[in-house]
Amino acid sequence: MKVEIPRKAWQLTLALVAIVGLNCMPYVRKPRKDNLVRVALVCGVDRVDVSGIRNDRYRDDYRITLKENFPQHFGPRDGVVVVNGRKYRGGLEIRRIDNNLWVINVVDLEEYLKGVVPCEIGMVSEKQIEAAKAQAVAARTYALAHLGQYSQLGFDLYATVQDQVYRGVSAEKRLTNEAVESTSGEVLFYKNQPIEAKYHSTCGGRTADFNDAWSGNPPPYLRSVRCRYCEKSPYYEWNKVMTKKEFFTHLKNRLRRIKVNIGKDELIRSFKLKRNRRSKRVREIVVVTNKSEYKIPTYRIRTLLGRPGDPSGLLKSNYFDIKTRKDKVIIEGRGFGHGVGMCQYGAIEMANRRKSYRQILSHYYRNTRLKRIR
Ligand SMILES: [Zn+2]
Repeated sequence: MKVEIPRKAWQLTLALVAIVGLNCMPYVRKPRKDNLVRVALVCGVDRVDVSGIRNDRYRDDYRITLKENFPQHFGPRDGVVVVNGRKYRGGLEIRRIDNNLWVINVVDLEEYLKGVVPCEIGMVSEKQIEAAKAQAVAARTYALAHLGQYSQLGFDLYATVQDQVYRGVSAEKRLTNEAVESTSGEVLFYKNQPIEAKYHSTCGGRTADFNDAWSGNPPPYLRSVRCRYCEKSPYYEWNKVMTKKEFFTHLKNRLRRIKVNIGKDELIRSFKLKRNRRSKRVREIVVVTNKSEYKIPTYRIRTLLGRPGDPSGLLKSNYFDIKTRKDKVIIEGRGFGHGVGMCQYGAIEMANRRKSYRQILSHYYRNTRLKRIR
């Protein structure tokens, strides 16, 4: 396939287009009195191995299949329950949903956070504990803001990147436990509601506006801010080099995947990147063929340009430019993740430079208030 790409098209930067959609925060709830969260550990399987106390009897390595009656409840033995060999604090509820088993960990919010913070911020040293404290507050706030979001399925949060990565007791570390305990009950608020405390690995020098990643009404505290702290991240700058042929073949395949069907006889002539001027992120890609134009919205861009082998098949971020050199296409990018809210590599470097967790949080979440809820 021979494709001519006008040079100007690569460099075209247009003003951002306001995207108006649904409100972005449908899940905000008041904290529950019992301070428990319900976390889906295992989703949609036909068997699961658990151990713990059930009906006052200890069950060791008990394999549950769909033949049994549901829901089933397991309490902790020696403080923990075990699911497929991994230990968790709190109890278990096993439900049948659409003829599959789902395992839900019913756990105190603070204990849940001990299994989240080390998975989300990674290893921290004594010197970096303020970053872990900032992560603990962000994760606690996120959990509270999302209570009840999957109430029709009987839980609040997935234990994966879909919400927050949670690996129970097995993931806990002394320093991150200290970070959770020393900020116990502290939550970020905006106008008396827990905020949408989004966070990501590396912003690449400037965080994203909310609408660079999602549609909906942008919360005022999720605005792009300068970040001078994440240069040491391995994802601060990156690039991808492909031949033009590889690039356009891939583009056509990915367009099909996101349900943009380009006719067999259509040739991609060029495309335009529409950028948010403040954050520099790509907000829209317009693919121009010899017959038509296709607009790819912001939330599809990382899927469109991601390749097999990329994390979750997504391009690392939408903070990039595309250049051509002879027969090559080069995507030059910055950062890793959606870019909204707290930059985790930035938080770690701020801690290295003796900033407190309060300073870290107020840098990335502007005009919010930190309050202790219990
Ligand atoms: Zn950053």
